[in-house]
Amino acid sequence: MIETKNWQKRISPVVESVPPSGIRRFFDIAAEMDDVVSLGVGEPDFVTPWTIRESCVYGLEQGFTSYTANRGLLELREEICRLQERSFGISYDPKKHVLVTVGVSEALDIAMRAILAPGDEILIPEPCYVSYKACATLAGGVPVPVAAKIENDFRITPDDLEPFITEKTRAMLIGYPNNPTGAILSRKDMEALASFAEKHDLIVISDEIYGDLTYAGEERVCFASLPGMQERTILLNGFSKAYAMTGWRIGYAMSNPAIIDAMTKIHQYTMLCAPITAQIAAVEALRHGEKYMKKMVSEYDKRRRLIYDGLQKIGLKCFEPKGAFYIFPDITSTGLTSEEFAEKLLLKEHVALVPGTAFGECGEGYVRCSYATSVEKISEALARIEHFVNHI
Ligand code: PLP
Repeated sequence: MIETKNWQKRISPVVESVPPSGIRRFFDIAAEMDDVVSLGVGEPDFVTPWTIRESCVYGLEQGFTSYTANRGLLELREEICRLQERSFGISYDPKKHVLVTVGVSEALDIAMRAILAPGDEILIPEPCYVSYKACATLAGGVPVPVAAKIENDFRITPDDLEPFITEKTRAMLIGYPNNPTGAILSRKDMEALASFAEKHDLIVISDEIYGDLTYAGEERVCFASLPGMQERTILLNGFSKAYAMTGWRIGYAMSNPAIIDAMTKIHQYTMLCAPITAQIAAVEALRHGEKYMKKMVSEYDKRRRLIYDGLQKIGLKCFEPKGAFYIFPDITSTGLTSEEFAEKLLLKEHVALVPGTAFGECGEGYVRCSYATSVEKISEALARIEHFVNHI
């Protein structure tokens, strides 16, 4: 028997101070059950399009099994820069402004480590993706959560952020389209945030991993494309969500050379490089994957409308998501807390979703449902949720 007791006190206090992800606990319970319908994981139910998989198989056949340059294959960096140019009209230099990372997860981690000195503060609008605050803390920084309000469609504004500015504020992190709310920011919203960033001389980390998943004819705006924002922004994006490539672990960061050099320094000592197989596949995704991606996005849009209408019919109020593949219904009418709702629903009806509190304190009163699953499963989950809500 291997002891844990004596070793627990040897764990770094910084690591101890970070709670485990609020998402996993429910999956551990769900894993023990039969017939669970899961709206829990934020993971596409599609497999990676064949052309992308095939390019990797072909690469392996040709013997591409080595390390790559720390910054990633130049070919991939060039494709990433072309994508920004054709989508948003912004020019990046593939040799100076891009770092290929092991998913946006690594990019988030090393971006924070590159820019936060001990005690530096970073503004983080909530509810938000579970890693943001943890990465800031692990980097030695201080995450400062700022609640985005439902009255404002979960958008964040300078008025929300201004009271949290101190002389230690160095950066802010925006993640839109948002996980878990599905909120997006309009060009006007982003322009207001750009002026705010300029006024307080903040670096902006913009996590745009769900950028391609923008619905309802809404404009997709890239924060770095706003006047004056390109060099101030660390633009993060990846392939996990839009191209159904979660398991490949591939993403990228784009910014000014000082920040990219600093991030590359951390990356070269810790990761060395992203897997070559995933980099080859990512090149193919950018060259020939767009039509497959668009098909998946239109499928998500169908599911989005199904789940939005279904939850409303059940009587759970919700904000209509405009991006990503999540919906964030208000469950306060049931009299249960978010945790109670998620736990009871799982135990009684075998439907897994995530309590809103996993995404910040202001997520109390909400739960997150992912609709990156089939229409049949969403319909079944809605029927079970209705039964649950009517029998509390
Ligand atoms: N950013 C957001 C907002 C996410 O929801 C996720 C994954 O769920 C990630 C980043 C991590 O993505 P990757 O698979 O590229 O590491």
